[in-house]
Amino acid sequence: MSELLFGVAGVPKGARGTSSEAGVDRVRELGLDAIELAWVRGARMGEEAARSLGEHARRRGVLLTAHAAYYINLNAETKEKRAKSRNYILQAARTGALCGVRSVVFHAASYMGRDPEDAYRVVKDQVEEVAGILREEGNPVTLRPETTGKPSQFGSLEEVLRLCAEVEGLAPCIDLAHLHARSGGAFNSYEEFVEALRRVEEALGREALKDLHIHLSGISYTSKGERKHLMLSDSDLHYGKVLEALCRLGVRGVVICESPDQAADAQLLQHTYRELCGSG
Ligand SMILES: [Zn+2]
Repeated sequence: MSELLFGVAGVPKGARGTSSEAGVDRVRELGLDAIELAWVRGARMGEEAARSLGEHARRRGVLLTAHAAYYINLNAETKEKRAKSRNYILQAARTGALCGVRSVVFHAASYMGRDPEDAYRVVKDQVEEVAGILREEGNPVTLRPETTGKPSQFGSLEEVLRLCAEVEGLAPCIDLAHLHARSGGAFNSYEEFVEALRRVEEALGREALKDLHIHLSGISYTSKGERKHLMLSDSDLHYGKVLEALCRLGVRGVVICESPDQAADAQLLQHTYRELCGSG
């Protein structure tokens, strides 16, 4: 990608209605660039509706991504539950392809008390199967496992990068608020953000920084990790330092904001980034 785009998760406040189309229109009105469709209970859209949403977004020049279901756990105890989880990702990628989403983001798994290395192998098998099926179908959507906010969840930076390096068709979703919360307050300085981005580059090559998917919002946390998303101004996360690191390393791609008023914070991020970095 040639730019760093800023967008929102879900239909933002102030939209005229609750439809994704209304969300797209609001994003355009606000001068933002992207919307991450919140398919957190599954992608339930029919084929015609998906195609028409895609057309609507293209006409307005708004980039679409999607967030797959929250129930996904590729490390679930039973075969049936793992199959269901694979299906949620397949369904999101198939519906996503119909409406032209660029990426489908998902939380891969919980450890379920397993050794992280064992969990990794189970998750990798599942993701390989899903990616293989989508490749055979000619599905162009990029699957993006996300760095998660709790140490009980699969999804440290290392795990996400390793998965993306080892499975074809994957790229990371780096949720910087989650990394901050997961680590109990680390990942909060310019140096740490640069270091995290350097690790992306080392694992996946320079091109990964030229098409990166980032989540950024305020967050509160305890020793068990993420508690809830907050507005950036109510959080201790140094988002300005994140933006500085993104600017300095020439990162391109999409930054999606998940704060409670996601549009206001996405605009704050976009504005701050432009001040720090020229027009980007
Ligand atoms: Zn997420």
